[in-house]
Amino acid sequence: MRRMEERILRDGKVLPGGILKVGSFLNQQIDTDFLRAMGQEIARLYAGSGVTKILTIEASGIAIAAAAALELGVPMLFAKKHKTSNVDGSVYSTVVHSFTHGTDYTVVVSRDYLLPSDRVLLVDDFLANGAALRGLAELTRQAGAELVGAAIAIEKAFQGGGDALRADGVRVESLAVIESLEDGAITFRR
Ligand code: 5GP
Repeated sequence: MRRMEERILRDGKVLPGGILKVGSFLNQQIDTDFLRAMGQEIARLYAGSGVTKILTIEASGIAIAAAAALELGVPMLFAKKHKTSNVDGSVYSTVVHSFTHGTDYTVVVSRDYLLPSDRVLLVDDFLANGAALRGLAELTRQAGAELVGAAIAIEKAFQGGGDALRADGVRVESLAVIESLEDGAITFRR
């Protein structure tokens, strides 16, 4: 998506450790006109795929997931990072390693909201090593739902998570794919 690449070049800030900050339009302040365009692009990519639910992780995936869900006319569901007690077995849960924080966290989603009949599209803001998406795919698997694919705003290809998922047969569509952030220069995959 040309507009995403242009926006990253204009407003993205490259931090040490291969981190890209996009707080001015996606991660903290949100450009709502651009958000709508992202939702439309994801809906275009997955039109006719029979998606019944969009699944993301709180918090930074929620806005783009909601924008895509609006366009596809389906519910948006987010996995919670809180340690919700599962003594009554009411949630699906798995552990995700956070690339940005270097820690592990548990993500949970209520069994009431993710159904065996669902065809699930995973949506997130960033795809780096792929841990977040694999966690969401695992929740989908636990529910017995079908994984249709994933849509990501910004994929950092140099961390390999997206290509590993594609090699595993998962459809992964990214609105911008960054090949390198070396020396502060942003290079896109062509
Ligand atoms: P992964 O699990 O694929 O390694 O990392 C994806 C998650 O880490 C995303 O949900 C996102 O919140 C966060 N993340 C990874 N890389 C970046 C980055 O360069 N910038 C920002 N803002 N978040 C990132």
